[in-house]
Amino acid sequence: MFNNTDKRYNQFSAYLKNRFGAKVYKITIDAGFSCPNRDGTISKGGCIFCDDSGSFSQAHSNLLSIENQVLEGVKTLSARFKAQKFMSYFQAYTNTYRPVNELEKIYSASLNHPDVVGISIGTRPDCVDEDKLNLISDISKDYYTWLEYGLQSTHDKTLLRINRGHDYDCFLRAYEKTKEKGINVCVHVIFGL
Ligand code: SF4
Repeated sequence: MFNNTDKRYNQFSAYLKNRFGAKVYKITIDAGFSCPNRDGTISKGGCIFCDDSGSFSQAHSNLLSIENQVLEGVKTLSARFKAQKFMSYFQAYTNTYRPVNELEKIYSASLNHPDVVGISIGTRPDCVDEDKLNLISDISKDYYTWLEYGLQSTHDKTLLRINRGHDYDCFLRAYEKTKEKGINVCVHVIFGL
């Protein structure tokens, strides 16, 4: 049993509640990123499962500033769930696909609220480098931080078929470097592929 639940597995939401003293809600943020697998750098088609929103699941508009998206998220989730703690969640497209100085401003803007305790950044394994990982590692010293890699499958044949634009080795290299920097890693896979 974990974190005062009756679950026989370590439920992430219960873990966060135990760690921060309140349930932690993700605020999805659209910072207007693109993706090299859609803008023609790798391919124009993108992954075969990717929709026009770049796999974005929530309705905040990137017409709002990042600070205002956070404020909107805090307002909505507080009113609906009495939420008290939040993580900014960069979900749509490839959220490390900008120069590092721009990334620093974007991530900082999302953390500029007293009730935001962490940040989660979704990206591709071929879109990180030493400087970007150093930036995220620095953030992780002050905020609860995750880097979320889209992998989807460990089989190169499948990755080719779904047009991921990178292979499994590319993921492994990024994973090792990210762990070396002490950053939490989440991996997205699609079961059944
Ligand atoms: S890496 Fe993400 S944003 Fe890019 S094409 Fe694939 S699913 Fe879409």
